[in-house]
Amino acid sequence: MHGSVGLVMTMGALHQGHLQLVRAARESSENVIVSIYVNPLQFAPNEDFDAYPRDLEADMALLETVLAEGDVVFAPSDEEMYPREPLVRINPGLIATLFEGTTRPTHFAGVLQVVNKVFNLARPDVAFFGQKDAQQLSLIRTMVTDLDMPLEIRAVPIVREESGLARSSRNSYLSENERIQAQALSQALSVGRDAAARGAGPEQTLRVAREYLDAADGVRVDYLELVDPETFQSLAGADGVAAPAAGLLIVAAYVGPTRLIDNMEVVFRER
Ligand code: AMP
Repeated sequence: MHGSVGLVMTMGALHQGHLQLVRAARESSENVIVSIYVNPLQFAPNEDFDAYPRDLEADMALLETVLAEGDVVFAPSDEEMYPREPLVRINPGLIATLFEGTTRPTHFAGVLQVVNKVFNLARPDVAFFGQKDAQQLSLIRTMVTDLDMPLEIRAVPIVREESGLARSSRNSYLSENERIQAQALSQALSVGRDAAARGAGPEQTLRVAREYLDAADGVRVDYLELVDPETFQSLAGADGVAAPAAGLLIVAAYVGPTRLIDNMEVVFRER
């Protein structure tokens, strides 16, 4: 391949969120590689690996609207990716034990394993990841730094529906009513963000977001926290002298049987 390579990794069931990543890659790179692979290693046995939506034909049709001639779609089979159970494993360390890692203890090891493999296969100059999966993004950045991997990681902001609901392949599991109930996630984050903009500190910001979500219909909260976007250490309790300038409100919640995640940056007013 001549010229720079931009990589976008996906699990398919593509939507406007994915396409935004592809557009960003297209704008900045001479060649774009999009991978489509539902990576079994990042699903626990009780999770939705089998049910995960797969529609390569629809994905290709969407990609054709944004890709240029010569760009590559890489959609390997399980046998191609894992001809045998991999023996050498990536240990993602501390960040992978927090939040998403509490509910999904093997998830990030599986993510970093496949990200590593696809980096080695595609050899991108730049790889694009969505802010939607903020903890994943933080772990990939940490891996690239810690292992001196020769590429740049770029974050793409969350693409939302008009209602505020973060676009996700898993939204296809939601019934019409659940889709409405799911709006409470982004609304709770906005309530927190707005409170911070009006002068609330970390504790109060988190409290108002929690109160909003706890009162919402049909939502069972897994976690709602205010964290440092790089380390994922909690910022609540940081009210007072050394209050942070900004943080990330992160949430995971079940709407019916579907587990959704979302996050929003919070900027604190100088006090
Ligand atoms: P997935 O197919 O869910 O593994 O996602 C593939 C990539 O698309 C990841 O980098 C995600 O963070 C990103 N992504 C998924 N949904 C969105 C969204 N609504 N906005 C921005 N990026 C997204």
